[in-house]
Amino acid sequence: MPNGTTADSPSAAHIIADKIDREGPIALGDYMAIANNHYYASKDPLGEEGDFVTAPEISQMFGEIVGIWLVDLWLRKGSPSRCHYIELGPGRGTLASDALRSMAKFGCHPTVHFVETSPVLKAKQAELHPDAIWHDNIADLPDDGPLLIVANEFFDALPIEQFVSTANGWRRHLVARDRSKFIAVPSEETVEERIGSTTSGFPEGTILERSPVSVEMTGSLSNCIAKQGGTLLIIDYGYARPGTGSTLQAVKDHMPLSPFDSPGTSDLTAHVDFHTLANIARTRMLAVHGPAEQGQWLKSLGIDQRAETLMAAAPKEADAIRSAHQRLTHAEEMGCLFRVMAVNAIDWPEPEGFSYGEE
Ligand code: SAH
Repeated sequence: MPNGTTADSPSAAHIIADKIDREGPIALGDYMAIANNHYYASKDPLGEEGDFVTAPEISQMFGEIVGIWLVDLWLRKGSPSRCHYIELGPGRGTLASDALRSMAKFGCHPTVHFVETSPVLKAKQAELHPDAIWHDNIADLPDDGPLLIVANEFFDALPIEQFVSTANGWRRHLVARDRSKFIAVPSEETVEERIGSTTSGFPEGTILERSPVSVEMTGSLSNCIAKQGGTLLIIDYGYARPGTGSTLQAVKDHMPLSPFDSPGTSDLTAHVDFHTLANIARTRMLAVHGPAEQGQWLKSLGIDQRAETLMAAAPKEADAIRSAHQRLTHAEEMGCLFRVMAVNAIDWPEPEGFSYGEE
């Protein structure tokens, strides 16, 4: 039996093995979707005691700055009375708390909508945001006012596909079983038409990644923003220009492990392809800003001053605040790897935080 499978619980490994036994090797995206769906449904993975730590869990400064960024746009747009705060994959609801608190100080009280699939995390979010409205997907978001959409470490969890160059063309990476293990294998058919180019110029073994789910979601959200106004703020680790190579990774207890080891018990992610998402938004006639490096973006929006103020107000916490500031902004921590991209309605104001140059 594959790792992580027990006789009496239908683990992700069991479901995947069963599907492969019935259908043959499955798409990598299906593997990732089943694994992550189980993973997020089974536990709260966030925090030092969990599997990974996200920016809003490091410090209130992160969510506060996101809130200031949003409310600045809202104010300069003339404070539209009916508008909606939408968060994709809000985790424990911490970012929303910090952002909405900052926004309220400037008179902005949007309705709150969360797109979340995990029952465990929905329960946590409800403790902080009892009046929020939950959605299983983005299909039924409000259609009657501007949308202020925030996605921090959300797109990296969405399924990807991989294509590998072989001597006779691009093949899709599928997931198969090798006795008790899962492994990636190239498909029998070639899939040139999916890639839109031949393998010439790509050494054998080159891997290309695509995330059709992310593309479709960005396209739908862009349509809503084009119609209703507002912004989509994406913060995540990823690449700003097209690239090659596998970025699929798994993390558990803050340690990397093989993505094919015990699916459903670790967080499976891939780097976000900002370049492609930006192009999708542009086809909907939206204005794309960034991607900028998270460290620079936070600094240009005043995180240094915010840290000083918090340290002055709570001197005993100064070391913790300094270290959180460092983790969020320093090039060797989250400062460079994480990027920030905003997709705005063209009749919305130019956002702050991107003026020092885009990549
Ligand atoms: N944004 C939070 C949590 C990031 S973890 C933070 O920064 O702390 C990823 C979040 O996305 C979790 O809340 C997870 O349950 C949710 N998620 C993952 N895949 C999803 C999907 N397909 N649809 C909706 N939510 C999803």
